[in-house]
Amino acid sequence: MKAVRFDAWKTRPTLVDIERPVPGPGEVLLKVAGSGACHSDVALYAVFDQDIAMPQLRPSYILGHEVTGWIEETGPGVVGLEIGSAHMVYAARGCGHCASCARGEDTLCDNVASMTSLGSGLGLDGGMAEYMTVPVRNLVPLGDADPIAAAPLVDAGLTAYHAVKLALPRLASGGRTALVIGLGGVGQFAVQLLGAMSSATVLGVDLKDDACALAAGRGAVIVGGDAQTARIREVTGGRGVDAVFDMVGTAETIALAQSVVAVRGRITVVGLAGGRVDWGFYTTPFEAELTGTYMGTLGELHELGALYRQGRLEVDAVPFALEDALDAYARLEQGTMLGRAVIVPHGQAAVADAAEELATVSAP
Ligand SMILES: [Zn+2]
Ligand SMILES: [Zn+2]
Repeated sequence: MKAVRFDAWKTRPTLVDIERPVPGPGEVLLKVAGSGACHSDVALYAVFDQDIAMPQLRPSYILGHEVTGWIEETGPGVVGLEIGSAHMVYAARGCGHCASCARGEDTLCDNVASMTSLGSGLGLDGGMAEYMTVPVRNLVPLGDADPIAAAPLVDAGLTAYHAVKLALPRLASGGRTALVIGLGGVGQFAVQLLGAMSSATVLGVDLKDDACALAAGRGAVIVGGDAQTARIREVTGGRGVDAVFDMVGTAETIALAQSVVAVRGRITVVGLAGGRVDWGFYTTPFEAELTGTYMGTLGELHELGALYRQGRLEVDAVPFALEDALDAYARLEQGTMLGRAVIVPHGQAAVADAAEELATVSAP
């Protein structure tokens, strides 16, 4: 089968031909429906090396941590799963037996130091391939909802869901405000989820007009341009923003977050840009908090899947054939993608025409 493999630090992945995997005990073989190309893949192959990356992420392996598919085959001991049924793949893979893993928080596994990967496509073979094997515990059912468009939910959607859910106490009373800095894949999910899960006014900031327009259509108030800090404070009646989500994470975007956050507000830095912060008593509103975030829990992916199956979430999926996966990564590197590139390994002819257009889709 064809697959996109990452072989060495600071080296682009390549399309390779390898043996189709065989599901072991407690696993299924998944025929991949969609596999999202994520900015963190670009960080993996273009930015990270042995000095800055966690050792669990060391190559070589097949990329793809944002995967959906249909069950093709079941391994020994697997019962109760229907061949052909569609599922999302929870990518994080903890030890499976610590207290964090027991809560479905594999992302925060207590035994990560002794693990050899962080998950599928993150140290283990992922789903940027025709097929992949998945432990049954990591499958989240999609029912009749479109599995190809669902792929970005697995990381971009889940990351936004987790960050928004943890910030909800800050948005619980009336007259609250949230700000999303960066309206790419994760940002668009955050705008929609804040609308669905809170009564807050949602503000959005991005340098790209098309991304702003998309978010505005989803209810965000766009606050770009000059004197941004003053404008944002004005929109909040001078109070500042109760929950800021920084999907970029540069020193500049974190500084913007800090300049507009309310007393007792919360800043969640989601983006991987690695900006540093000047955080102290005299630079920060009273009792404001700053936190990071990493993906989400298995239980939350089930919750997000339910929202999608109810048709309450739109996914900006842009399909690419598996042969064009490297072009999709090139577009990510150039920053010319509006929406989320989804590699579709089966039925390539059907996606070729659509690849240049943004196909916004939602579940039936
Ligand atoms: Zn990712
Ligand atoms: Zn664990």
